[in-house]
Amino acid sequence: MQHKFYPKIVLLPVVLAALLATACQRTGTSDHSSGSVSRTGFFFDTVVSLTVNGTDDDSVLDECFTLMENYEAMLSRTRENSDVWKINHSSGKPVTVSDETASLLSLAMKYSELSDGAFDITIAPYVELWDFKENPGTVPSEADLAEAGSHVGISSLRLDGNTVTLDDPEAAVDLGAIAKGYIADRVKEFLTSQGVESALINLGGNVLTIGNRSSSSPWNIGIRDPLGDSDDIITSIRISGKSVVTSGTYERYFEKDGVRYHHILDPKTGLPVQNGLESVTILSNSSAEGDALSTSCFVLGLEKGMELVESLDGTEALFITDEQELCCSDGFPKE
Ligand code: AMP
Ligand code: MG
Repeated sequence: MQHKFYPKIVLLPVVLAALLATACQRTGTSDHSSGSVSRTGFFFDTVVSLTVNGTDDDSVLDECFTLMENYEAMLSRTRENSDVWKINHSSGKPVTVSDETASLLSLAMKYSELSDGAFDITIAPYVELWDFKENPGTVPSEADLAEAGSHVGISSLRLDGNTVTLDDPEAAVDLGAIAKGYIADRVKEFLTSQGVESALINLGGNVLTIGNRSSSSPWNIGIRDPLGDSDDIITSIRISGKSVVTSGTYERYFEKDGVRYHHILDPKTGLPVQNGLESVTILSNSSAEGDALSTSCFVLGLEKGMELVESLDGTEALFITDEQELCCSDGFPKE
């Protein structure tokens, strides 16, 4: 069942799930306030920020940033010698990858199946045709999309332990729809192992929390208005220890002749999905699963996406339409 609701004004301090990409350095800028350390940086083509409460020692942040750097070196499609780069340059030959890459590929394949192919990490040949950094960008020709599409399809990807084979030498994988969530989970795991009891991990809109913001209040996470400015919040949710991940048209796009061409692509056509949705937010325990699911649900659309969410335990969703309607699953926390 889906519910529509209209947001109320929020009085608690709100953390906006999507950060502004301004003046950030790769190594990060740090901030100290008493009993809390935070840092902002740039990884995975996006702004990341970490806040850890209950300490003044920011060496824990150094370790988190090193961890993220290592994962980027492992999982990036464009970084030479990453596991993904090796898979994509294997010319159809088997490649040995790390345990972590193998387990992430396995999770991605599970979501391909769960979403009936809406989620497909072999989307890379299409992704390479779109340039969202230019504005206005170039819309790929039908012929180029058809040629790229002939190499898209999860059935060409085989995983056997740590051995990965792409049967089609022209096929390629892109973990952009799941890697940030996976890395957020690993950062949380590390911080928890260090005894951290309160933290906020924000990897470009993939928000993962540890504990509460303070002894008296949970974390209050703002959900961006997908059609508003970058700091416009349409609603917010209070959570502790959970993940909130959003897939939205505003994250990467260009506009041409009045059309917003965004980065969430239909694996059948290679075109940006146009189904009346502007964003999908998933509330879950695992950020990797939330990340895979937010993209899956966006591609599936409101009806089928909601059906998928309602079939999964411990997972809730908020869909926002191009009419700025908010539709949420049964257990989604309303303000
Ligand atoms: P997200 O912001 O998590 O929804 O991920 C979007 C990113 O995942 C895009 O920038 C592409 O790199 C990739 N992507 C686009 N469409 C799909 C899809 N249908 N399935 C899997 N990955 C996709
Ligand atoms: Mg995703």
